[in-house]
Amino acid sequence: MGEINSAENYIRDGVVDGNILPLTSNCNTHCVFCSHRFNPPEVRVYRIFPRSPTAIKNIIPFIDPARPIVIGESVTRIIEGEPFTHPDIAEILHLLRSAFPRTPVRLTTNGILLGEEMVQLLSRLGNITVNLSLNCMGEFNRNFLLGDIQAKAAVNSVKLLKKYRIPFHGSIVAMPHLTGWGDLENTINYLSEHEAETVRIFEPGFSRLAPSELQFDHALRGKLESFILHQRKIINIPITFEPPCIGSLEAEVAGVIAGSPAAGAGLQPGDVITAVNGSRVSTRVQAFRKILKAANPDVTVTRGSERSIAFVIRKGRSERSGLVMDYDLDPKLIDDMARVARQRRARKVLLLTSQLAGPVLRQGLARFWKEEADVETLEVENHFFGGSIRAAGLLTVGDMGEGLSEYLAVRTAGKPDLVLLPGLAFDRTGSDLTGTSYTRLEEEYGIALELI
Ligand code: SF4
Repeated sequence: MGEINSAENYIRDGVVDGNILPLTSNCNTHCVFCSHRFNPPEVRVYRIFPRSPTAIKNIIPFIDPARPIVIGESVTRIIEGEPFTHPDIAEILHLLRSAFPRTPVRLTTNGILLGEEMVQLLSRLGNITVNLSLNCMGEFNRNFLLGDIQAKAAVNSVKLLKKYRIPFHGSIVAMPHLTGWGDLENTINYLSEHEAETVRIFEPGFSRLAPSELQFDHALRGKLESFILHQRKIINIPITFEPPCIGSLEAEVAGVIAGSPAAGAGLQPGDVITAVNGSRVSTRVQAFRKILKAANPDVTVTRGSERSIAFVIRKGRSERSGLVMDYDLDPKLIDDMARVARQRRARKVLLLTSQLAGPVLRQGLARFWKEEADVETLEVENHFFGGSIRAAGLLTVGDMGEGLSEYLAVRTAGKPDLVLLPGLAFDRTGSDLTGTSYTRLEEEYGIALELI
């Protein structure tokens, strides 16, 4: 009973926090890179049966009609499967559309069950964008990497999405060390030829429990970066890489969606946005959000050696511009840290961060931290998942404790008086993925802690 209640709470939290609506944990494939494979046994995640239309009706009051409804994306603690395996998917989509006639719906799918009838339904319901996790094209690779025995179905869904003019984005977990670079290139080309709006390429992440043949060496990331830079030059759609390579916080445009307001205004990949409606912007996140919120924003950019060029992006308030930008840093995060440090009257603040986020956070602190208190960052290694897992949301209290112990052991200038932990790693009760509360660290180290 306790388990059921917890899963229900996580489902409701996902809807309230992110408008993310889990439908089922069932899936029709077994991707080797699926985020729920090779987890250490202590991870507390929940598998859910297909949610009944009645359960969906009951959760409708928690959905925000002003934000896109997200289906098929993992809410951290709920194992999200393939939405089109749900026996009542058509009824649920109808239900949502009649409750929210104008709310955009974002559906993530592997495309295997996206036949003509289903694509026609998506087209009739309208305002649906598909995130298609195609991953690879070749029959052998699809079979071997995804456990997909009907390779042609997903590949064909790309043609159907184009035919019925459903906007879609392609995504690829890039494993060229296993599939070869040719398949990766073919998959990007195919998505581009069929007018995907963007292609998102993900670096794979495998825990220490994944078999050694799936693991890859660190050089792969550099090779993927060079490959993507080359593809961007020869293919005319935005290609992003996640986690992104953020060299600086300059608001550089990664790509521009064809036919979008930003493309119409003349913005180009590589432009650096310096101001929106006359007010300076300091990071990509800030620029992107200001542009999204504004109607017909005036955007100032620098392009190559040209000093400043002004554009007007003709669009409505909260309408997307078509600019594609990597996620770097929301300056509000530094403001929040500063507020907590002031409230706690801290003189020495230590920020625990993931290895991925560390360099960006240091740049943010150098630029935005104006407090008298000293602030330092500590990159925590993910020993719990191990392997190539480096995201902040997957750190555990154990990892943070190990990092803190090592830091304190060599520190001669005394303990920090406030330690900030990445809030992403914790649920609303302050528990990590293993169900351990962050307050354990407070008791163990006698230092004030806050989630940020
Ligand atoms: S399609 Fe998605 S949910 Fe299904 S196995 Fe692959 S990664 Fe996991």
